[in-house]
Amino acid sequence: MQGKLLDLQGKDTEIAQLEYKRSSLPAIETKSELEVSFARARDQHIAAEVILSDLEREALKSEGDVDVVRQRVAKDQEMLDSGAVNDPKQLLNLQHELESLARRQSDLEDLELEAMERVEGAQAAVQVLAGQKAEFAIQLKDITATLNSELANLAVDLAETQSEREALASGLPSDLIALYEKIRRSHQGVGAAKLHRGQCGGCRLALPPQELNVIKAASPDAVIQCEECRSILIRTAESGI
Ligand SMILES: [Zn+2]
Repeated sequence: MQGKLLDLQGKDTEIAQLEYKRSSLPAIETKSELEVSFARARDQHIAAEVILSDLEREALKSEGDVDVVRQRVAKDQEMLDSGAVNDPKQLLNLQHELESLARRQSDLEDLELEAMERVEGAQAAVQVLAGQKAEFAIQLKDITATLNSELANLAVDLAETQSEREALASGLPSDLIALYEKIRRSHQGVGAAKLHRGQCGGCRLALPPQELNVIKAASPDAVIQCEECRSILIRTAESGI
């Protein structure tokens, strides 16, 4: 009868191992690392898009500045070509203005080109970060699927082991189960251990010969506990008594 307690202990140990496995699956850590990486890539992507939109606005303004000067040049040139200005001083002024506008246009065009290059650089950065974000999203989706399937498998194993455990427990006296549970709770999950060649299977304590003699003389139904770890000691043919 007491031998079944060892089977129960076996099932409880198995359950504890499955629960430990469930909480320490490598996919859990991988998933949380990927969540961090994805969030970082997403934030960087958003920041890069903000920078890009600022630079696009600057480039547009730069383009507008060049347009204003171009229109002014066209207007002056038209006036010059029309022959409407005859006064030599006015003509000279107009020519000076055109020269100064040409310099200004060239400067502004350089600035426009630089602004466009900055936009292109920012566009490239946005694209790289969007790619990284998408890659992390795929990896995150994959690891989530892996983790969920591992958890589902463990849940099946756990439910199966639990029900085997319940079947075993129901075949044992309730006071013995109660004692076993009480010891198990306060002793790292161990409530019953085999007495093997005079040693406690729970804590490896070698029992003194006089203690073994007492156990040998006890009735098979008597509950014997290890003095060291409190485990219920289960006697077998190899107990050494
Ligand atoms: Zn012990």
